[in-house]
Amino acid sequence: MQQLFDTLALGITIVNPFEFKTKGEMLADCADPAFAAGVNTMSCSRPGTRNAKLEGKGNRHCGRCVPCIIRRAALKKAGITDDNALLPDDRKYRTDIYRETLHASTAKATNKAAKGENVMAFRYMLARVQASSNFLPSAIQITGPLETPAASLDVYQRGLEEVEAVLQHVRLVD
Ligand SMILES: [Zn+2]
Repeated sequence: MQQLFDTLALGITIVNPFEFKTKGEMLADCADPAFAAGVNTMSCSRPGTRNAKLEGKGNRHCGRCVPCIIRRAALKKAGITDDNALLPDDRKYRTDIYRETLHASTAKATNKAAKGENVMAFRYMLARVQASSNFLPSAIQITGPLETPAASLDVYQRGLEEVEAVLQHVRLVD
């Protein structure tokens, strides 16, 4: 985008102070993390599924998709209380990954809330990262070349550490 502005000689410079911060670091570094965390935001990739609406739980965080897991990781990193029991009903996670036992095999899950395929995917990725120092530097460039691969790698690794801190508290069974 900056190259486009430069080519067009618009005299516009894009500045993104959050480019190399994780979601948790952005939240922790803001002036009032508790206020920011209390704002009714939506991170979920599937907040209003048909089943959720049938259960009267539409337009809420599912709690188990990748953005929801990253959201909880950010709140944990920032030291924000993220207890599903304390949230108002319309803001509770439909699946509380801290309390429910999830199933790696979705065929064995007795209900949708117990499906832990995204937790399993994160754990698999963490295992790959630990097994090979070449995995993550390659993986983050799959979607295209990065302008600053070292800085991007650093933020990606710190982001994974935030997620790992959450996954340590999640029960995942076959
Ligand atoms: Zn979700």
